[in-house]
Amino acid sequence: MYKNIVILTGAGISAESGIATFRDGGGLWSSHKVEDVATLNGYRRNPALVHDFYNSRRRELKNVSPNPAHIALAELEENHPGSVVIVTQNVDDLHERAGTKNLLHMHGELLSIRCEACGYKFKSGTDFSIESVCPKCSKKGVLRPDIVWFGEVPMHLEKIELLLISADLFISIGTSGAVYPAAGFVSIARNSAHTVEINIEASITASLFHEQIAGKAGKAVPEYVKKLLQATE
Ligand code: NAD
Repeated sequence: MYKNIVILTGAGISAESGIATFRDGGGLWSSHKVEDVATLNGYRRNPALVHDFYNSRRRELKNVSPNPAHIALAELEENHPGSVVIVTQNVDDLHERAGTKNLLHMHGELLSIRCEACGYKFKSGTDFSIESVCPKCSKKGVLRPDIVWFGEVPMHLEKIELLLISADLFISIGTSGAVYPAAGFVSIARNSAHTVEINIEASITASLFHEQIAGKAGKAVPEYVKKLLQATE
């Protein structure tokens, strides 16, 4: 039985819920340049555009639900006798809505807002603009999405590294292996853990995994979780 399971999830796990990945055509990402909406420079240049983009993404959350992959991972956490931690690159809230508790959002959260002036963070599902006022320091025009943009340091990295070096099973689901440091997690984990990739197509770092499962997360993840739970019975 695995004692310490660490699961890395990417945009692919939420694709079947209807949230576009970076690479999908037709999604919000295809009509915006990453430099404009996912960098600090883009925000400084045009904060109104960046607020609009994240307002749309926040509103989109109201129309989507966790899919069988999110639900299976929450069931794994609840029923597996060892430790199960999910590290997600996703900024949506589908893992928590499926019931996952042990969760680290390394790239921030759409439903979290941060004040650039006083550092106050708060949860909100509403729209923001350059006119919005910080509820703590009352300054205007200082609120930004609590999202890690390109060029910024991901959250919880020290904790994640400790989890990776003590993992005995590392599963990477629906991530392209294009964004570091997450793409490098398999290299750390594979020293002590069995490593598994679940993706519809091989990622850039696929050759570093011990095991490859080709398939959609919504089917492949529940099947894999079922096997893991049966092994502990
Ligand atoms: P990515 O868009 O670079 O890659 C998505 C991966 O998912 C690809 O490898 C693709 O083959 C795979 N995939 C697509 N549909 C799948 C399915 N049904 N089942 C299994 N795999 C599937 O996404 P990424 O690697 O997470 O990388 C980058 C960044 O994108 C992250 O920083 C993340 O914050 C951001 N992002 C997040 C969301 C979200 O919160 N849901 C959505 C888009 C982008």
